Amino acid sequence: MENLDYYADRKFCAHCQNYVPYLMSVDKSFCVQCGGEVRLFSQADWQAFNQALQDRRPKGGRPRKNQQNKESA
Ligand SMILES: [Zn+2]
Repeated sequence: MENLDYYADRKFCAHCQNYVPYLMSVDKSFCVQCGGEVRLFSQADWQAFNQALQDRRPKGGRPRKNQQNKESA
């Protein structure tokens, strides 16, 4: 995931339709290019992000056990 560093200091501007450098305010961030409010992810990326979170979570509350049976050979 080399892109993580890239996205770390950039946010998505709906106006520019791109990930842009941003200015951080108290509780909002603003695009340095157009001054519009930016968000952490684009809509599509946000859905993909949430989907990824749900996929990692075991369904039905059953923890996945990955036990290794290591016996002396
Ligand atoms: Zn912008």
